[in-house]
Amino acid sequence: MVELKNCKKCGKLFSYIGGSFICPACKDEEEALFQAIKKYLRENPGASVSQVSSELGIGIERIKKFLKDGRLEIIGDDGQPALICERCGKPIKTGRFCEDCNRNITIELLRTTEKWDVNNTNKNRDRGVGMRYLTDDFKKKEK
Ligand SMILES: [Zn+2]
Ligand SMILES: [Zn+2]
Repeated sequence: MVELKNCKKCGKLFSYIGGSFICPACKDEEEALFQAIKKYLRENPGASVSQVSSELGIGIERIKKFLKDGRLEIIGDDGQPALICERCGKPIKTGRFCEDCNRNITIELLRTTEKWDVNNTNKNRDRGVGMRYLTDDFKKKEK
């Protein structure tokens, strides 16, 4: 069974086999761009985003998209990382969040899950036991 989707980039219909909503042609183009940037960075270590952009004729926003995907690491023009953390605004080299925020987001997710768990099991289980367990657990982490 083939599922037809519109390509997110060129709008053409293509048979979707999973992954991103991009047709094979656009995917090839994207991959070629990515390989070109990678090759350029190998030959010019420490190149900045604007350097890569003007040398290869690739828009800065497209390069940043590759950076956000976590596939590339490029420094910005003033030697600072080209991206900023979407949560705290700290300069980062790759991905969407800095290491701290990545860790915090994971912890927050865990806490949300724990809260859900407490609420859901509240009817059947003594809440105090669960809470005491959580407190002890946090104390251990702080030490
Ligand atoms: Zn396409
Ligand atoms: Zn951050």
